[in-house]
Parts: sequence; C-alpha cells; structure tokens
Amino acid sequence: MRVLVTNDDGIFSPGIKALARAMRGFGEVVVVAPDIEQSAVGHGITLRRPLRFKHTASAGLDPIPAYRVDGTPADCVVLGVHLQGPFDLVVSGINLGVNLGLDITSSGTVAGAMEGVSLGLPAVAVSLDTVRMEELDFTHAARAAQRVVAWVVEHGLPGKVLLNVNVPARPPRGIRVVGLVERYFEDQVIERTDPSGVPYYWIAGEPARRAEPGTDLWAIEEGYVAVTPINLDFADPALMPALRAELEGPL
Ligand code: MN
Repeated sequence: MRVLVTNDDGIFSPGIKALARAMRGFGEVVVVAPDIEQSAVGHGITLRRPLRFKHTASAGLDPIPAYRVDGTPADCVVLGVHLQGPFDLVVSGINLGVNLGLDITSSGTVAGAMEGVSLGLPAVAVSLDTVRMEELDFTHAARAAQRVVAWVVEHGLPGKVLLNVNVPARPPRGIRVVGLVERYFEDQVIERTDPSGVPYYWIAGEPARRAEPGTDLWAIEEGYVAVTPINLDFADPALMPALRAELEGPL
C-alpha cells in the first residue's frame, strides 16, 4: 500500500509531519506538498507557468521522502501521482484550522483530497481546530486520521466520495459522522486606505459558531471528531424534472 500525503499549509508545517508519520503503519508514505502556504486556494490547478518538483530533505520528514512544489495542493497531487505513483490513497492535512461547511469549497486541504478523488483514488482530508489551542498538539488528530484511514483501507470509498475529518482542539470525546453546517464563516469586507488615499479591501471573517445539531460544526463544538462523507457529484437530480419540463425543447 502506498500513501500520498499533501497539505495546504506547506511542506514545513508541523501538521504534515504528524500526518505523514501517522500514515507509516499503512505502508509506504511519500509527501508532496506546496513550498509555501496555500490555504484557501481551493482546487486551483497551475496551467500558465511551469512547476518545479524538488526533493526536500530539510522538511524534517526523513526517512519519509518529501518533495515540494511551487504550486497548489491540487498541483502537488497531480505531479505526485505522475512522478512518484502509483498510489492507493491520498491523505491531506493535518490543516491548522477547521474546514467546515461550505468552506470546504475554498479549502486547499480538501482540494488535495478532491484531486485524489478526481484521479480515481480514495482520499481523506484532516483538519484540526487550532482556535483555542495554546500549543499545537497533533496527537488526537493523528489518531483520528489513523482510525478513519483504517476504515477506508478496509472498506474502500465510492468513486466520487472523500472523507472530511475535523478534530476539536481539546481531547475528543469520540467520533461523530455528520453533515455540513450551512455557514461557518461570516464574511466581512474591511476597507482601509493606502498612502495615496486609495481604498483597498481585506476579505476577513468571523466564525459563525451557530451549530445546527448533526453538523460538522456541532460535532466540533460538542468535543467530537467530525467525519463527513463529501460527494463530488455536484449535479442536483432533485431540480432536474422541473428544469426539464420548462427548459428542454427547441431553443
Ligand atoms: Mn491551511
């Protein structure tokens, strides 16, 4: 069994070290990760400039082979599979910060797993709530990743599905399988003025922390590891009959 480990915080993040080490019990691990932080880049693929793929002993992952790419997490998975494959599984994380609700669409961590699914591989994304942490501790997140990956190795995953795992900051009470919260971050646009008097903008956000029971945010708030199966078949069959009835036909 060969496991490709990536992330969006970059190859020098302590989270990817913890995850790569946690995966060693499953087989051969190879790390391919961005050279700098790529949080919130989503599923971007770099098409308009060349990419470099460099062995990186300084990542401190020895003896696990580690390569850095000057691109996105999805780039890392594409190049990793092409240059170091074949792989049996893609695992992305451990992200510093949760990836909940619709924020998974902008998450680079989840995109790494999504690219794995696109390439036909089972994939798991792992994120840790770091908001209320004094000191980073990946012990429980690493254990949660092992539990979930062991399940995936035993049962496999349907073709278009990945597992999104979020781990609370405090020692978890257990695991809950949950849906996505509707809204996690409340976007804010902050306007400031540059030295020439021209306004510029920061997109920022406050965690909403309004947890509907049965959602990923609720599980985290209650102190559980949240596991959410994410289906990448975005097509909505429920709306198709109504659209067909009125839209189909000659233009
Ligand atoms: Mn990140």
